[in-house]
Amino acid sequence: MTQTDDCILCRIAAGTLPARKIYEDSEFLGLLDVTPCAEGHCLVVPKAHVVRFYDLDEATLGRLFGVVRVVAQKIKQTLQPDFVCVFIRGGRISHLHVAVFPSQQNDALSGFPQSSLGEAAVDLDAVQAKLILLEE
Ligand SMILES: [Zn+2]
Repeated sequence: MTQTDDCILCRIAAGTLPARKIYEDSEFLGLLDVTPCAEGHCLVVPKAHVVRFYDLDEATLGRLFGVVRVVAQKIKQTLQPDFVCVFIRGGRISHLHVAVFPSQQNDALSGFPQSSLGEAAVDLDAVQAKLILLEE
């Protein structure tokens, strides 16, 4: 996977765009999100252009989550929230980024994600049957 000029996170990784870095090693960056949902909202990103976390090999994914743990501990120790949460989607920016952010008891993140479907709206037995048949 290669860096691309039109990817904002590749440009940050290459040093051509500034970022408020809080962690850096040869493979990953930890930085502040410029549009935070909470004080201390950070991102952990691979320097290589990767879109989906499940496309990473197991060893790289393990190292990525080692950095997520380091950043989470930084947030916990400095800001002392009740919880440190992570969220991975990657739809808005097509470069894998793990959002790591503080959360307080009973804040807007409590209970996230809330189901928008009633229990009867999903055939749980059918979904289980589909998922369990797939090879790991
Ligand atoms: Zn990229």
